[in-house]
Amino acid sequence: MPPVPSPVPSPVPSAPRLSEVLAALDALWPPERAEQWDAVGTVCGDPDAPVNRVLFAVDPVQDIAEEAVRLGAQLIVTHHPLYLRGTTTVAAGTFKGRVVHTLIKNDIALHVAHTNADSADPGVSDALAGALDLRILGPLVPDPTDPAGRRGLGRICELDHPATLRDFAARVAHRLPATAQGVRIAGDPDALVRTVAVSGGSGDSLFDRVRAAGVDAFVTADLRHHPVSEATQHSPLGLIDAAHWATEWPWCEQAAAQLDEVSDRHGWDLRVHVSKTVTDPWSAHQASTVPYAPSATYSTADAPSSSSSSSPSSSSGAPN
Ligand SMILES: [Zn+2]
Repeated sequence: MPPVPSPVPSPVPSAPRLSEVLAALDALWPPERAEQWDAVGTVCGDPDAPVNRVLFAVDPVQDIAEEAVRLGAQLIVTHHPLYLRGTTTVAAGTFKGRVVHTLIKNDIALHVAHTNADSADPGVSDALAGALDLRILGPLVPDPTDPAGRRGLGRICELDHPATLRDFAARVAHRLPATAQGVRIAGDPDALVRTVAVSGGSGDSLFDRVRAAGVDAFVTADLRHHPVSEATQHSPLGLIDAAHWATEWPWCEQAAAQLDEVSDRHGWDLRVHVSKTVTDPWSAHQASTVPYAPSATYSTADAPSSSSSSSPSSSSGAPN
């Protein structure tokens, strides 16, 4: 009777070391593809430490550091840098230093993928377009070093069915995570939208490229009075201004799924989480409720003194 072969033990998934996870992250978002002014890569962390849980978030703020502690994560990956312009102190008395102290005391590493994730394939704007259910046609600003023509800033997209700017904005408000800001529109709300440019984060530097693309609308964040005024005077372009955080949060889910896939391929014992904490800094929004009536404005005699705490904007009870 032949010997009964002993069963081959299935490999037990083991926690990767931080250096292995960071190598995977750098393969997804090569740091050399970041803009020159950017500060991407690893902020803190021991390369030899094991990593079981990873938390993805947009902003490296104290709330996120504390969420990682509660979760038992050993690595946070954020889109925004902690120190964009360098620093000479990480003292816990500074708010960024406090983040660093919280992380190091709890053996949590921090890694940043910023403009290298913006221009990646898939990148931040692919995630934004995906969240809005748009068909992607190509990058808004192609990366000349990509022979496939897929990398670059922003994405040009089309809708499955044309919609009015108002209805499309309602879709944006519905599909992106809720924030105090919500969504603002510039342009004719009844104009028909067939093609859209999207760019996660601050996008008003891309107006020339958006105009050149000939799209009907542009979805981005942080739009300001003068660029918007000029853009809408220049052409019938519809603008949709969402919260900066909300336009970049979909990347966290996309990035987490990418790392999950890498982890499965390696057989790592690694759990990947996405923070749902809203870190957009705007905390409340009060829509105007009274139509503008010049005769109703107060005269200088009625105006509060500079030391007074009462003002037209404080009537809601919100702190100034
Ligand atoms: Zn951003």
